[in-house]
Formats: sequence, structure tokens, C-alpha cells
Amino acid sequence: MEKKRFERPIITKLNTGMPNKIGLKTEYQPIRSIDGVAVKELIENYGSPVYVISENTMRSVYRQAYQAFSTRYPKIQFAWSYKTNYMDAVCKVYHQEGSWAEVVSGFEYDKAVRNGVPTEHIIFNGPDKSIEDLEKAIRNKSLIHIDHFDELYTIIGLCDRIKERPQVAIRVNMDTGIYPQWTRFGFNYDNGEAWDAINRIMISGKIDFIGLHAHIGTYIMSANAYRIAGNKLADLAVRTKAKYGKAVSYIDFGGGFASKNTLKGAYLPGTDTTPSFDEYADAITSSIINSEIKPEDMPTIVLETGRALIDDAGYILGTVLANKRMADGTKTLIIDVGVNMLFTSFWYDHKITPAQDFSHHTESAKIYGPLCMNIDVIREYADLPPLKKGDQFVISRIGAYNMTQWMQFITYRPKIVMIDQQSKVHVIRNNENLDTITQLEKVPEHLKSIKK
Ligand SMILES: *Cc1c(COP(=O)(O)O)cnc(C)c1O
Repeated sequence: MEKKRFERPIITKLNTGMPNKIGLKTEYQPIRSIDGVAVKELIENYGSPVYVISENTMRSVYRQAYQAFSTRYPKIQFAWSYKTNYMDAVCKVYHQEGSWAEVVSGFEYDKAVRNGVPTEHIIFNGPDKSIEDLEKAIRNKSLIHIDHFDELYTIIGLCDRIKERPQVAIRVNMDTGIYPQWTRFGFNYDNGEAWDAINRIMISGKIDFIGLHAHIGTYIMSANAYRIAGNKLADLAVRTKAKYGKAVSYIDFGGGFASKNTLKGAYLPGTDTTPSFDEYADAITSSIINSEIKPEDMPTIVLETGRALIDDAGYILGTVLANKRMADGTKTLIIDVGVNMLFTSFWYDHKITPAQDFSHHTESAKIYGPLCMNIDVIREYADLPPLKKGDQFVISRIGAYNMTQWMQFITYRPKIVMIDQQSKVHVIRNNENLDTITQLEKVPEHLKSIKK
């Protein structure tokens, strides 16, 4: 048996939640395993770095969110935001839980179809839908969320050729007290543009206007912003009913709930400041329940939550490459995870936890990735116990956006594994290699040989 490491007992004053000038002490306990699988084993078997997704966390967070809404309102439908993480295995977990698909490009649309999502359960958002995309979505009776007038006119034009009535909603932007306002997507409520779009749709006589949509932003820290959005969307629904006798069948509140990550520059950690699903659900459902929409017309509430569902379920595990002291005395740590694999490190102070025992002393260090670029900084400062070359660590809450916004740069992207609810590990995306990276390249004949 390995001899246990002795450390003398120490008494430390507990300053819970009190950051010093460079933030909070990062960690008190190592993370030795994830869902019953040892970190060391994961790195040994699947390489370093490696992304890890916990199916158990995915499902339990989804169920918490679903419960928060469904206990307050009878008709709730989630639609998984593909761009947040479109690994097929990830999407399938949410689809198994009952989620529809929310897509913002032809590529994501095709991925959702291939994943077996019934096409009438695919919500097609975004400003970039080609004629072919729109035609396909109309024929498939998918839910098209119109972004701008040019798109509306294109759809009206397509109606003459396609003998299906497009199923559409409009995306609405508005002042909800969140600044800067996202006014670049959809039609503005406050200046009457959204109402104008609805009238043009209704007057066309060729389109089924069935829903209203807003996605007011991302990482929205105020649940009340959704209440304001709900009031404005309900107003449009009521006016549509009054003028045309037609009730919308759903109101879609988009995504935007904050995850528990800590934004850069935030004084308190995200775990202390992020609103709960209950707070968001209360604001959203009460805005519809207390509106002038008649009980028999109560719409389904659709939620396209991305970040807040998946962030906690994702980890990236890695290894310390080196310790270095810079000329000005700053202690730095070089790790094998760079910003190319952790895009969200531009916004978040990610939590980095050693995977092995450590002493109670900490030193603040600047943490660099392995890329040959000065911007490759994972943490400006992190209060960490001393780590040495070869030590392993876990970066938590990275499930959202990193596996879609990653960049292939100077090295291969690593494996992604999913740990299922029986603690079995599955590779859900293989690592890249020289062949996978270069398979789309072509060398002109005259350059095939490098001998002149
Ligand atoms: C990105 C996006 C989402 C998901 O947003 P989160 O902030 O990750 O919850 C939902 N709907 C639309 C239209 C989006 O563009």
C-alpha cells in the first residue's frame, strides 16, 4: 500500500466567498474522478487533453429546468440549441429527454434531421437561411422563425411554387432593460416593426403565422428581463387575435439563461449570483399567465436554453507542461489546454482544479496554453496550489460553446468522451490526426514534387 502523505494540521480562518484582489482561492479539494471514473484513467486511456461530458449531469440539469417550468405552466417545450454543443451524442440525450431541435444554419438543420428529430419539431432560426434551406424547411413543415423583411418576401415568393403553407414565427427584439440591446436579429417591438411584420404575414394569406420568438441575449443575469419580454410578446399575441381572430400556438423565449460560470471581472463567483431556473421560470410563466391572452388561447412556452443546460456537464482534463517565472517575477504555468480548445476563456474565469492531492498553500499564477501566441491565456491569475510538470487538472463547466466554437490551430483537436449513467466511458468524437486534418487539401500537380 502506498504510504499516505503527511501534512501537519493547520488552522485557517474561513473567509467564505471573500475574494482577495486577484479573486477567490480556486480550490479546496482535488477532483480525482468524474462520475466514478478516475481522471488519471481518463487521461491515460483517451489522451491529454480530453473533453469529458457527464450524461448524468446533462439529464439531471435538464430535468431540474423542465420541472421548474412545467410545475408552473401546463404547456412547456424545450428545443435544444444546436450551436451550443452539436455533438450528435449530446443532441440525442436532449432529444431522448423530449427536447426539439433549435438550429441556425442549413448544416445544423441537416444534422437535426439526421439525428431523427421529426422535421415539424425543428425550429429554424438565424439571419442566414438560403433559398434551398427555406424550401426544405417549408416542405418539411419545420418552424421557420423569420429574421428580416427580405426573408419574409423570399418566403412569400416561394409559396407560389411550393404547395405547402409555411409554418412561421417572427423573431422579435425589444428593450428589456438589458444593454447593449440585441437589435440586429428579428423585428423591433418598440418601434412597431414587429407588428408591421405580423400584418404583412397575415395579409399575404399564404403563410401560417403560429408563433412569436425572442432571444434577448446570452448570460442574462436578470430574470426580470424575461418578464418584460413576455409582456411585449403577449401584447403582440393579443393584438393578432383581436385583429385577425387567430391565436398563436406558441411563444418562444429563446435561450440566454446564465450558467454558473464566473464572468471575467466579476467580484462574486457565478455560483453565488446566477438566477436559478425557478427564478427564470417564475418570470416567464407569470408574464404569460397574467397577460390578456384568453385561457383557451394559452400558447405553449418554448425554451431554447443552451448554455445553462450543458455548461456544468462538460469538463476538459489536461496536464501541466511547465512552470516558469517571467522576467517581472510573475509565476506562470503552461498547460496543454489552449484558447483554441477553450474559447470561453475569453469571457470566463474558468475553474481549474488539480486532479491530485495538494497542500493548502496557494500562489497566484498566470496560466498559459501551449499555443505560440501571446493571447493564449487561460487565466490572467488563478490562486492555485503549486503544480508541477506532469500534474493533472480538471477545468469545469465548459460544456457550452467550446465544442462548436473551437479552432483547429497548430495541433489536433482531442477526443471527446461521454460518461454514461453506469460510469461507462464512450468516445463520442475521435481525436483528429494528420489525415483527418489534411483530407480536404489538394496539391496542384506542379507542386507535387518539391525537387525543381
Ligand atoms: C444561441 C441561441 C440560443 C441558446 O442561447 P444560450 O444563451 O446558450 O442559452 C437560443 N436561441 C437562439 C436563437 C440562439 O441564437
